[in-house]
Amino acid sequence: MARVALAVFLDFDGTLVEIAETPGAIKVPGSFSARLDLLSDRLGGRLALVSGRGIEDLENHCGALAVAVAGSHGADRRMAGGGRHGPSLDPLPPAVIAEIEAFALREVLDLERKPHGAALHSRMAPDKEVIALRFMEALAQRHGLNAKPGKKVVELVHRGADKGRAVDAFMSAPPFIGTQPVFIGDDLTDEDGFAACRRWGGFGIVVGDRPSEQALYRLSGPAAVRQWLQL
Ligand SMILES: [Mg+2]
Repeated sequence: MARVALAVFLDFDGTLVEIAETPGAIKVPGSFSARLDLLSDRLGGRLALVSGRGIEDLENHCGALAVAVAGSHGADRRMAGGGRHGPSLDPLPPAVIAEIEAFALREVLDLERKPHGAALHSRMAPDKEVIALRFMEALAQRHGLNAKPGKKVVELVHRGADKGRAVDAFMSAPPFIGTQPVFIGDDLTDEDGFAACRRWGGFGIVVGDRPSEQALYRLSGPAAVRQWLQL
């Protein structure tokens, strides 16, 4: 029987590193980008990070990344080695950002500005999670955008920025095309990645104890993911 080559798509927060109190407080293992390079080499270059963070933000934590990467939920993509992969989506309109800023100030919520979106974090104010979600959903509807809920966070992004589309884009071109994709992620936004992998003949692995509609397998946490990948 012919061996099927695997392609691996990896979420970052909660999948490769433990989630921290604030997005800036995560602890990344030393030489992390070099470790990712080794893993990518073992996979013939068929490795991509697919994160809600912007690419620059990922590199601030990991060091310069040579592996393929999709930041901002796929709104911004790079091939291994740094070449652009497809068009990049625009940042959110300034008027939308201003509305979110005013809301965050009023409700004392932590606002994270991203190159292609904005996220309201309620980890420090769990009682505000629901009103933050409702506010962002209403704003998304008014402006033709998408509100993405996650763990103690809701993010506003352009329609079309989702992890499933990022997988589709990578799987449509070398070195990913024709291989079996695996998506590993912990949060709701990763369900799109799992579903895309199923469509391409692969599967999803959910991380942690969140129930998953689309994943076929489960790993207990970031340490288990890193161990499984020998990362
Ligand atoms: Mg995650």
